[in-house]
Amino acid sequence: MATTSDTPAPGPVRTCVGCRTRAAASELLRVVAGSDAEGRPALVPDPQHRAPGRGAHLHPTTECWQLAVRRRAFPRALRSGVALAGALVEDHLASIQQHQNSQSDSPHHRPETGARSS
Ligand SMILES: [Zn+2]
Repeated sequence: MATTSDTPAPGPVRTCVGCRTRAAASELLRVVAGSDAEGRPALVPDPQHRAPGRGAHLHPTTECWQLAVRRRAFPRALRSGVALAGALVEDHLASIQQHQNSQSDSPHHRPETGARSS
């Protein structure tokens, strides 16, 4: 095994199914094939990396998500022969990004008054 000094991550490394970049598994969102609230086949986010079965790994960003959807990476990675709805993952990514935004800005900075001037 060749030694590469440019991979400092100590844990397991996975390839993002969106941008195809290798990254530490802990930085990637694991996605598994499951079902949505109505029992239909769906992609299910597995942020705890605990769901059994085959998983696909993705940077938790909209960019990589859209890349993966466009190249149909999930059915291939998950060996799924059926179409998998992506709404659960989209919701998960949106909530992550909202969380990041509210952490980077001060959470109570939004003006809640002053909209009545007209
Ligand atoms: Zn990526």
